[in-house]
Amino acid sequence: MNKLNDTCSMSKRLTCKICGDKEVQMVFIPCGHAVSCVSCSQSVVICIICRAPINARVKFFLTSNFPELAELN
Ligand SMILES: [Zn+2]
Ligand SMILES: [Zn+2]
Repeated sequence: MNKLNDTCSMSKRLTCKICGDKEVQMVFIPCGHAVSCVSCSQSVVICIICRAPINARVKFFLTSNFPELAELN
């Protein structure tokens, strides 16, 4: 834990694996991968990580209290 200044500002934000632009905000059900922003999640029918069929998509919010939520995969 030394010199955190460089990495702290962009800390745990995940970028959408599909558009590479927006922030990851959706979790695929049932596989549980969180790799997509809201708009991209509408256009995929299988998970881009494990290729499991997506039955539902759940929006989640990252908070500083639960940083581990960013590492669901
Ligand atoms: Zn996206
Ligand atoms: Zn998956």
